[in-house]
Formats: sequence, structure tokens, C-alpha cells
Amino acid sequence: MVLRLEGVKKSFRNSEELVPVLQGVSFDLEAGDTLALRGESGSGKSTLLHIAGALEAADAGRVWVSGKELTQLNDGERAQLRRTDIALIFQQFNLIPSLTVAANIAFQSALSGTPDLAHINHIVSALGLEEQMQKYPEALSGGQQQRLGLCRALMLEPELLLLDEPFSAVDPITRLGLYERFESVQKQNQVSTLLVTHDLREAKRLADYLLILDKGALVQAGIPEYVLQNPATVYVERLIESQLV
Ligand code: ADP
Ligand code: MG
Repeated sequence: MVLRLEGVKKSFRNSEELVPVLQGVSFDLEAGDTLALRGESGSGKSTLLHIAGALEAADAGRVWVSGKELTQLNDGERAQLRRTDIALIFQQFNLIPSLTVAANIAFQSALSGTPDLAHINHIVSALGLEEQMQKYPEALSGGQQQRLGLCRALMLEPELLLLDEPFSAVDPITRLGLYERFESVQKQNQVSTLLVTHDLREAKRLADYLLILDKGALVQAGIPEYVLQNPATVYVERLIESQLV
């Protein structure tokens, strides 16, 4: 089990009120699986990702990453786990503008300790970035920047890959290319992935399981095809419908 959540709760203070954002979320992510997380805006997806990535603490419940329970670790051990086991990519990637693509990659691999050059070369070529190595980030298209972001995350060989709508900022054709790249890397590296997406077709294509979050509660979990054909609640039905019109 790469990631396990058990009864995770989280609230945020909104002026005087305490607003519940996650209301007892439980699920497992098995090694090598891709799990997609879909819910309307504000349903708690990013908060869940931050908690799984040990960037934020849950108010209640338990979280294990690579078999280690996060609350049992001290700050140093959690930081170490984030460096060695977890890679988290948001929509925007933190590329260093004054460094070429090659130097951005070298910088990241130096940070992570012992760089495995053969592995890095493999990821670079699987993502089709060979031609871009001497360019600066500003000279890359949106799709190339997203591939570079994926490359930097994957070359760390994370146990757990957390993706927050990583394919949403590119046009559909570019996105299709990114799916193919992602799948080819997945096939060879078996990275366990939690993918936040607002696109159910993306979930169907890339994920082994689909989780649906409604106001911080998991209302359905299952194989994407099954969920899409058997929505458990009116909300899930509405989510599916909204993507077909
Ligand atoms: P999603 O990613 O599904 O759109 P989020 O997890 O970002 O949802 O946010 C869920 C709810 O929690 C929203 O109402 C948001 O305003 C609130 N929220 C998220 N982060 C914070 C924070 N750091 N402080 C206060 N409220 C927050
Ligand atoms: Mg979000």
C-alpha cells in the first residue's frame, strides 16, 4: 500500500466559522495503480492532495505513505519523506527561468541526491524532451512545460505521484500527446499516482479507479467505466451529465 487514508477530516476557519472541507475520507492506493479524484470546485480535492503529500496535517484520521503513518513522524522525518517518496505537481510548475531545460533537470536531480543518469535519459526521451534541452522555459509551449514538470517529478522515482489537474492548461491535441507520454512512462515505471482531474474522460483513460468527492465526502469509488454507468447519487449523475452536454 503506497497511500492509505482512514477517516481523514479537515476544516478551515472562515472568519468566525469553522468550515468542514474533508468529512472522514478513507481509501487505499495500491502500488502501481492510478487513482483519479473528481469533484466539483471547492469539494476538497486539493486539500486532500496536500494532506496525502504531507504538506498539511489532517485534523482527524490517519494517513500512511509508504507504510509510514504521517502523525508518527517528526518534522524532519516528514520533510525527508516528502523529498524521497513523494512528488507533487500542480498546474503551474516551478521552473527556474534563468536555467535551460537541461540545467533545470540537473538542478532537480542534484537536489534529490544521487542522480541516476540512465533513468533521467529514459524519462526525458519517453516524454519527448530531447530537442528542448538547450531551450529556456519561456521558449517552451504550454504542453512542453507540462512535460518538463512531469519529467522533473518522475525522474525522482517517487513512491507516490500526486498530480493536481496537470493536463488542464493545454489544448486537447496536446493533452492527448501528454496522455500517451504519461502512459508510456507509467507502463515502464509503475508509479503509484493520485490524479486530480475535472475531466471524467481523462479519468477513464488514465485511472484504474475513480473516486468522487462531494463536499468533502467520498460518495462513490470504483472502476471508471462502472462509475460512469452506475452513478451512486444524483450528484455523481449530474457530474457525468455535465460532461456530456
Ligand atoms: P478543490 O481543489 O476541490 O477545488 P480545495 O481543496 O482547494 O477544493 O478547497 C476546498 C474548500 O476549502 C474551499 O471552500 C476552499 O475555499 C477552502 N480552503 C482551502 N484551503 C484553505 C485554506 N488554506 N484556508 C481556508 N480555506 C481553505
Ligand atoms: Mg483544487
